[in-house]
Amino acid sequence: MKLTIGHLYPELLNLYGDRGNIQCLMKRCQWRGIEAETIAFEMGDTIDFSKLDIVLLGGGSDREQMIVCEKLKALQKDFKAYVEDNGVVIAICGGYQLLGSYYKTEQGMIEGLSLVDMYTEQEEGRLISNIVLQSDLFEMPVVGFENHGGQTSGITTPFGTVRCGNGNCFQSASEGYCEKNVIATYLHGPLLSKNPELADYILTYCLHRHPGTPAALEPLDDQLEQACRAVMLKRLLKEK
Ligand code: GLN
Repeated sequence: MKLTIGHLYPELLNLYGDRGNIQCLMKRCQWRGIEAETIAFEMGDTIDFSKLDIVLLGGGSDREQMIVCEKLKALQKDFKAYVEDNGVVIAICGGYQLLGSYYKTEQGMIEGLSLVDMYTEQEEGRLISNIVLQSDLFEMPVVGFENHGGQTSGITTPFGTVRCGNGNCFQSASEGYCEKNVIATYLHGPLLSKNPELADYILTYCLHRHPGTPAALEPLDDQLEQACRAVMLKRLLKEK
């Protein structure tokens, strides 16, 4: 059994090191003896979604989103079928916005994949902040960093509730979108290494698609990650 991660358009969608999330997943597989590979797809490449277990769509500037959206529209049917077949999607910031019906900017309209019933509109100012949220997927709060001009509405199943930071809109109560196999969030960069429970939730979900694989992942030593997060929680939530 081998897990295959598809990284869509890393040359355009990879703000603040979103690619690090793939490195984290690969490493956590390797440490457990699970074979895994990553395929980076560029704009001219053909994507066979049936070969993929995880698709990562990272963040990008409005300009890059505009370029990518044309390409994504051509893939819409295959992408939708992949999601319906329980393929995992991790979509970050600009990638998250592209899952919805549109992202309206001052420069024009960016059409989305319409995989999630939501839309994004650019408002004045940017939402730039460290952020803490509580997800229903696991007990530990999720820590991260957000930086977006677009504000997203229409979400009925958010990734988490905001304890510090903004989330989907300015001072929103909710952040991101989550539906079992699709995790979409404004949290950039090393999201999975900061929150190893999320990385393992994703890997566990993928393994369930492969019959005959162990139901639970071997635990790893995440003391360093836990300690780093504790510092951030203390700083951001003023916890003792
Ligand atoms: N361009 C989008 C926005 O500003 C997404 C930015 C990002 O991916 N950080 O809202």
